[in-house]
Formats: sequence, structure tokens, C-alpha cells
Amino acid sequence: MARVLRTGICNTDLELLRGYYPYKDILGHEFVGVFEKGSEQLINKRVVGEINAVCGYCRFCRSGKTTHCGNFTLLGICQPQ
Ligand SMILES: [Zn+2]
Ligand SMILES: [Zn+2]
Repeated sequence: MARVLRTGICNTDLELLRGYYPYKDILGHEFVGVFEKGSEQLINKRVVGEINAVCGYCRFCRSGKTTHCGNFTLLGICQPQ
């Protein structure tokens, strides 16, 4: 888990505010922070977020091809309930 230090607003956020998609939760998927809880090798490392949160366990993730992960979720943009 990381402590967020700075966040950004991109055009996707602005389009959501204009009604591009019926998303009603907290916007935002671009941020930088410091890793504080979890894997020891990452403690105090600077990390950045991206819109796709991959599973880290499937064959694509384990082979470093995370953009092919079929189990990803989205940050700041998700399906309406
Ligand atoms: Zn963005
Ligand atoms: Zn995966």
C-alpha cells in the first residue's frame, strides 16, 4: 500500500465530469506515492499509479505482459452499479 503524494487530472477525468460515462465514484487514476505497507523490497520506494490495475497472477502478468491481463480492474473508472 502506498501513501499518495501527488495526483493528476487528465482529459479522461474531465470527460467523465462532462458526462462521457455514468461514473459516480471518486475520479482519478494518475498519482505518485511512497510505498509503505507490503513487500519489504518496495518499502519507501516511489511508485506511480495507472488506470489499469492488473492481477499479477495470470500467465500474462507473470511473464511481464501485464497489458494482456484479462483480470484487470480500472481505477477511477468502473462499471456503474
Ligand atoms: Zn488519465
Ligand atoms: Zn493478470
